[in-house]
Amino acid sequence: MEPILEIKNLKKYFPVKQGFIRRASGQVKAVDDVSLTLYEGETLGLVGESGCGKSTFGRTVLQLVKPTSGEVMYKGKDLSKLSFKEMRPYRREIQMVFQDPYSSLNSRKTVRSILEEPMKIHHLFTRKEREEKVDHIMELVGLNRTFADRYPHEFSGGQRQRIGIARALMLDPSLIIADEPVSALDVSVQAQVLNLMQDLQKQLNLTYLFIAHDLSVVKHFSSRVGVMYLGRLVELASKTELYKEPLHPYTQALMSAVPIPKTGIKRERILLTGDVPNPQNPPTGCAFHERCHACMDICKVERPELKEVGKGRVVACHLYK
Ligand code: SF4
Ligand code: MG
Repeated sequence: MEPILEIKNLKKYFPVKQGFIRRASGQVKAVDDVSLTLYEGETLGLVGESGCGKSTFGRTVLQLVKPTSGEVMYKGKDLSKLSFKEMRPYRREIQMVFQDPYSSLNSRKTVRSILEEPMKIHHLFTRKEREEKVDHIMELVGLNRTFADRYPHEFSGGQRQRIGIARALMLDPSLIIADEPVSALDVSVQAQVLNLMQDLQKQLNLTYLFIAHDLSVVKHFSSRVGVMYLGRLVELASKTELYKEPLHPYTQALMSAVPIPKTGIKRERILLTGDVPNPQNPPTGCAFHERCHACMDICKVERPELKEVGKGRVVACHLYK
């Protein structure tokens, strides 16, 4: 498989106002030196608790936030170096699906005008062609085309997320960044939307970066899974390997809540003690050490770097040499 997206040493630091003085030291390392590659046609799941930087990571890819440093190579082009205007063609190819379809859909517009908007912005197609495209995509996402003249509030949560997905598809993208696309939906509806996304991927040859806080959601159709903690990637592995034998103690803790496939048996529950540390003042050494059941002396002083521990499998933890 060809790489479609290669992220290299990506950092996004946000300055934090402290009182009236903006001190140079006051910053949050939302994304701190993350490198990973996405291959065409795959789904890479990215998980971690809220505030771990996974949404910022997704937005940085689309240049919705400019990275502090690092490269975002899309099909060989570094998007982080492009101007707003130069970014335009790539904004067609890379689309985002958001967590809350309701707040991301303009409530004063009909579904048809919401779906036509991206084509208008990019000056694509005649009016008739745009109408036909809306009808086609509506059916592709499982919505009756007669619904196009209704407003977002007339739909259920699941239907609204279908509209959000339809909007992302209007410009025939190659890569979709889905930021917690089912987190706001009832469990019964989640599976339907995930199945739809999976079908669309096959039909349209889409690549997904699928962001979630829950390992059971990305398990559904990710080929590989990355785990983030406080702005850093702490583990990345194929789905099969990660779910069979998670290596990083943080992944192990997240995983202990997920039933083992086919048996429904849960692993021994590892409770995460304490809260996610304040990202403005992260712990020394391994940022996870205050919550880690396997913490050693070295963990408090030395930050573990990502190490390759198998083919395409990396982990950042002193337990693995
Ligand atoms: Fe735990 Fe140490 Fe590994 Fe961090 S480096 S996850 S503290 S064992
Ligand atoms: Mg988020």
